[in-house]
Amino acid sequence: MTESPAEIKPALARFFWIQFLSFGLVFVPLAVAAVLWSIFALEVPTANALVGLAVFGGVALAAMAVVAYVNARRIVNRLESVHNVVGQMAKGEFDKRIPAANRQQIEDLAASFDQTQRLLKVRVEDLEASRNQLRTVLDSMVEGVIAVDRDQKVLLVNEAGRRLFPIQDLAPVGRPVWELVRSPQLANWVAQSLLQSEPVGGELEIKAPVPRILSVRVAGLPGPTIAGAIVVASDISQLRRLERVRQEFVANASHELKTPLASIKACVETLLDGALEDAEIRVRFLQTVNEQSERLDRLIRDLLALTRIESEAERPALHPVDVAEIVALCVNRQIRNAERKGMQLVSAPPAAPVRVLADEEPLEQILDNLIDNAIKYTNSGGTITIRWEVPDARTDARCRIEVEDTGIGIPQAHQVRIFERFYRVDRARSRELGGTGLGLSIVKHLVQQMGGTISVSSRLGKGSTFTVDLGAAS
Ligand code: ADP
Repeated sequence: MTESPAEIKPALARFFWIQFLSFGLVFVPLAVAAVLWSIFALEVPTANALVGLAVFGGVALAAMAVVAYVNARRIVNRLESVHNVVGQMAKGEFDKRIPAANRQQIEDLAASFDQTQRLLKVRVEDLEASRNQLRTVLDSMVEGVIAVDRDQKVLLVNEAGRRLFPIQDLAPVGRPVWELVRSPQLANWVAQSLLQSEPVGGELEIKAPVPRILSVRVAGLPGPTIAGAIVVASDISQLRRLERVRQEFVANASHELKTPLASIKACVETLLDGALEDAEIRVRFLQTVNEQSERLDRLIRDLLALTRIESEAERPALHPVDVAEIVALCVNRQIRNAERKGMQLVSAPPAAPVRVLADEEPLEQILDNLIDNAIKYTNSGGTITIRWEVPDARTDARCRIEVEDTGIGIPQAHQVRIFERFYRVDRARSRELGGTGLGLSIVKHLVQQMGGTISVSSRLGKGSTFTVDLGAAS
């Protein structure tokens, strides 16, 4: 189809000779008959008749040759134009038309070519449209898809497939799948699925560049025999991570609940075993039972608060809140506790009143928790200062609230982790002070729910500053 028109040039000679010989078949018997007729009927001398034959024969042969050449040329021209159009069709160009001509047969051929071409154009456009649709569908899937032929060579990969496995090669089509995804496990599943009709698969760990856990299913592509395989993978890393976090949380919570319960149980058993009679022991043990049940109560309340906040059942309704009012409420609640422990609790208001975009209740909860921690982790004689401001009202509509203490401080390595659930720098000290290890994670969730951020800066032995950034109300 794609050879040049020059290759059909020999056809010109063939067509010429066919035409010329056809004329010859008519002319030669006529010429012979004319010569014989003029010799015998008209009694023309044989020599003259032969000269006449030579002259007229020569002229006739020349005329025949010209007519045969012109005819042959026209036929060949038409064939060349058909050939050209077919050649263009093979290259996907469907808009060339065969020029009109007066030879009916070739005209019919040209017409049927044109019709075939139009049909082919529609079909090819349909095919391209469905291929584009398929590509769009595949690329918008969250699951990664790789299709391979029976030789495990890649037929297609969608965007998610490239990202999840990951496939860096920009032209993966035609390359063996085991060369693109270096996983013996995946290669095994693909090989297996090419031999059996049942799908295979499981979990696949991808280590680099981003560690992921994929859930993979490989199924044979149906055909008279298995024609290839299709790999479908979904990223379940997040699911597994959440499961692990949940398991850790349940284990931590059970452990935290078990400790005070065990203590209460031991006290009660000792009292029942006879210690009840001893007034001094009885009071001490009952005090322990009281302390531990209070700890249990705090723990359960914190757990319930955390669950409620995390489930995001009630999102805080943000509105302008006067920070000074909330700080005053919290300071009043905690000032006695601070004074009892021999420390100062002071607030340092800005020159102009500041209003923050928040909800009163969670904002109080945040400040209560931070002040309570500051009191817990500051030694007698220390100072706790609460200050708030809008650092730059023109460029940054944020309100910054700081709770600063002169307490024990937090080692650098622990600073990033203290907002995690149950994370404590000094477990024993936190328990002794009635901590549950949940306060800061509750604070962090509440701040985030109100669209803010929280950070800490601290120096061991010098003190800590917790900074809450929330939207400032204009
Ligand atoms: P806890 O109930 O133990 O106080 P939190 O979640 O409130 O739990 O705090 C987590 C840990 O962060 C604490 O156990 C403590 O080690 C550390 N921490 C929190 N606030 C302070 C602070 N103001 N000064 C020093 N350490 C602190």
